[in-house]
This record gives sequence, C-alpha cells and structure tokens, in this order.
Amino acid sequence: MIKVQTYEDMEVKVKWATPNPGEEIREALTNTMADLTTLKGEPVKKVSTKLLHFLVTAEHDSVLEHAVISFMIQGASRSWLAQITRQRMTSMTSSSQHYQDYGDYPFVIHKNLVNKEQIQKAFNDSLLRYTILIQQGVPKEEARQILTNAMAVNFKWTINARSLYHFMRLRMCFRNVIEMRIFCDKVFLLVQKWWPEYAKILGPPCYIDGKCNQGFMTCGRKYDKEKNISR
Ligand SMILES: Cc1cc2nc3c(=O)[nH]c(=O)nc-3n(C[C@H](O)[C@H](O)[C@H](O)COP(=O)(O)OP(=O)(O)OC[C@H]3O[C@@H](n4cnc5c(N)ncnc54)[C@H](O)[C@@H]3O)c2cc1C
Repeated sequence: MIKVQTYEDMEVKVKWATPNPGEEIREALTNTMADLTTLKGEPVKKVSTKLLHFLVTAEHDSVLEHAVISFMIQGASRSWLAQITRQRMTSMTSSSQHYQDYGDYPFVIHKNLVNKEQIQKAFNDSLLRYTILIQQGVPKEEARQILTNAMAVNFKWTINARSLYHFMRLRMCFRNVIEMRIFCDKVFLLVQKWWPEYAKILGPPCYIDGKCNQGFMTCGRKYDKEKNISR
C-alpha cells in the first residue's frame, strides 16, 4: 500500500542552535571592529538588525559563521534533495537508497495532484516493481533506479548563519519550485524564534534590496514578507 503526502506535510524541526547567537556575533565583532558600545544605538549584549544588514551588504559576513543551527527534515522529496545538496557550505546527511529498503517511504507531491489517478497508478507500479526486484535478489541500490523523484527523504542539515543568509536569498525567490519555497517558509518561522533580529535580514533580493537581480528572468512579483508566504 503506497503512502502519499504533500509538500505541506514536510516536517522541519530545530535540533539545536547556538544559544545566544547575537552575543556570539557581538563578541566576534569586538575583535575586528571598533568597540561596539561606540556605535550609536547598538544594544549592549547583542547585534541589531541594522548592523547585521550592514555586515552582509558590506561583505563583512564571516563573523556570522559563529552562529549555527541544525535542522531535522522529514518528508521532503528526492527532487528537493537534488536541490538542497547544491548548497555546499552546509553539513548534510540523508536517507540512503543504497542501505535502506525504500518500501516504507511515502511519496511526496503537490497537494493538487494527490488524488490524480495516473499519479497513484505510477507510484503503485514503481513501488510494486521495486519490491519484486528486491525479492528477486536485485540489490537495493540497483532496484532503486525505478523509484520516482517523489520518494521522501529524511535529512539532517546543519548550517551557519552566513550560509543560511545566502541560501534564503537564493531559495526564497519566486523562481524556485513550490516545494523549496514551502521548505523556506518553515525554516524562516523557526529562525524567527531562534534569532529574531537575524530573521529580518533573510529574504530574496526583491525584498532585502528592494529590487530583483534576475534581469530578463524576473518573475515581476514582489515577495511579501508580512504575509510570510512565498507562494
Ligand atoms: C531558482 C534556482 C534555479 C536553479 N537551477 C539550476 C539548474 O537548472 N541547474 C543547476 O545545476 N543548478 C541550478 N541551481 C543551483 C545554483 O546554480 C547553485 O548551485 C545553488 O543555488 C548553490 O549556490 P552556491 O554555489 O552559491 O552555494 P554554496 O555551494 O553553498 O556556496 C556558497 C558560496 O561559496 C562559494 N563557493 C562554493 N564552492 C565554490 C567553488 N567550488 N568555487 C568557487 N566558489 C565556491 C561561492 O561564493 C558560493 O556562492 C539553481 C538555483 C536556484 C536558486
């Protein structure tokens, strides 16, 4: 019996995060910049959104590497996996189709397609043939070749604040597929709880810089962070 779920069902949890990220960055900055107490309006124990924005736009962003967050993600698709793993400046561990029997994993698909007969049939067919191949002695890593991109993956993802800023800039953009944008929405809400001042500098160029950087590929829309939904 196949299990089918939607992108919205993806679970994203924070496993751990640097406890006082603002304090860590502030400490790092006092090694490199003038005493922060001399910077007008800067809080004593952390860094403001304004200063964080300055650091990333002026490319003094290596100090952000001292703040790290680790996520556990369940129920994203293998096509999402192909995209997230392009982000090299992160630490990642995923489910294995080499060592694990994939028969129990769900299929992940757009909510409008869940009940489409052709899709249900294709999923059923691929999982049935996968199971038969394994029963016939074909190794899992070869039988997997007939599984679809929709198969779910579990993923441990650890990323520092410098890399996460870069990731969210690229991936909150409307040019991304909907599954990736749903993932970013979930990450964004968790980051907002972890480090509110930093969450305010996350977003695509149209939101952060006030203008799109995609040239002729622009979508012509503007990200609405107040609604907090990039769809
Ligand atoms: C909407 C969208 C569509 C995309 N479509 C495609 C596609 O069709 N095909 C495709 O292949 N990819 C595609 N990508 C992936 C994209 O090209 C990047 O590979 C991906 O976003 C990771 O970006 P990154 O390399 O900047 O990040 P990271 O790998 O995290 O690297 C961060 C930064 O480190 C530096 N860096 C890392 N490695 C190197 C290196 N080897 N040499 C020099 N500098 C380095 C760079 O400054 C880089 O920006 C797409 C991305 C987006 C957002």
